[in-house]
Amino acid sequence: MSKISDYQIHRLRIPLRMPIGDSQVIFTEHWMTLLELRTDDGAAGVGFEIQQGLPTPALAQTIERFEYAHWPSLQGSDPAGVALGIHRPRGGNVGAAPHSLAVETAAWDLLAKRADLPLYQLLGGGDPRVRAYGSTLDFHLSDDEYRGRLTEFREMGFQSVKVKIGHPDPAWDLRRLGIAREVMGNDGDLMVDANEAWSPKEAMLRLDLYAREGFEIFWIEDPITRDDYAGYAALRSEIPTARINTGEYLGFSGKRRLLESDAVDVLNIHGHINQSRFAAHLAGDYGIPVSLGNTIMEIGVHLAASLPECLYLEFSDLAWNEIAVEPVRFRDGFAIAPDRPGHGIELNLAAVEKFSQPA
Ligand SMILES: [Mg+2]
Repeated sequence: MSKISDYQIHRLRIPLRMPIGDSQVIFTEHWMTLLELRTDDGAAGVGFEIQQGLPTPALAQTIERFEYAHWPSLQGSDPAGVALGIHRPRGGNVGAAPHSLAVETAAWDLLAKRADLPLYQLLGGGDPRVRAYGSTLDFHLSDDEYRGRLTEFREMGFQSVKVKIGHPDPAWDLRRLGIAREVMGNDGDLMVDANEAWSPKEAMLRLDLYAREGFEIFWIEDPITRDDYAGYAALRSEIPTARINTGEYLGFSGKRRLLESDAVDVLNIHGHINQSRFAAHLAGDYGIPVSLGNTIMEIGVHLAASLPECLYLEFSDLAWNEIAVEPVRFRDGFAIAPDRPGHGIELNLAAVEKFSQPA
């Protein structure tokens, strides 16, 4: 079997077409680390990581860190062990993920290419289509810009959208919800995301207000701080009008506690494929569905397509898709996992060059 024999790293700065953000943050650019892992039979797997706003270390420093932290255990190893290995975080080992997201993604790409299968099939999926919603990340956009983004999503075939709320003035939230319904119509679902803006009581008051004003909310995402398990359990039992979606900001243990605490209606997963599969499986054991937040290059479509109970995949139409020869396609409100071997994201080298910023 082929072994990992070489690598290449690119450091990219990708300016966003317009600012993205929420009630807590605003970003105008992405810093991406692209990793190609090659095997001795000539195959290549691609992985990526993103940092929002804060620049990543210069390329030379990134390579130095990779050589220290990852390369000794990767060189000469089989991609299967890298992708599928289960690790035991204990003591000083806790918090130090054995492989970065970029390494894991590249290894899965290599493994699926070796099997000559699209990744979602290697993960056990049959149907490449996943229901998706448009996510405008709109908090810092003017009403007109926001309307424009919604119109773009509607023209792409989306019916369901997620709106950033959590403004100090509840009337602001109501106005934005009104614009969403005005542009999107009433056929799709309307989700909202407060990004931890509220206390539990404030969350209850806001959800009650939206309901009284006639807005049916499919889910409320991260209304309160991520680890307020008692607060989430209270919201889940007290709010009759909307599902509680949370877990985006928590690792595996936090997601487990949400489930144990009866604190979540839809568990938000994304990131590392292996851990997300375990979290989804655990959620299923509690009878709880999952959703996928934004994943870099929309790679999460493979994981989502392999899960039996993924309600929705988030799509924000971000500039990173420019660096894919053929990005993941979205049509009629569905994401469609590429039917090419691997995860199907090959690098557009001209675009990589365009965004490249080694120093
Ligand atoms: Mg969110």
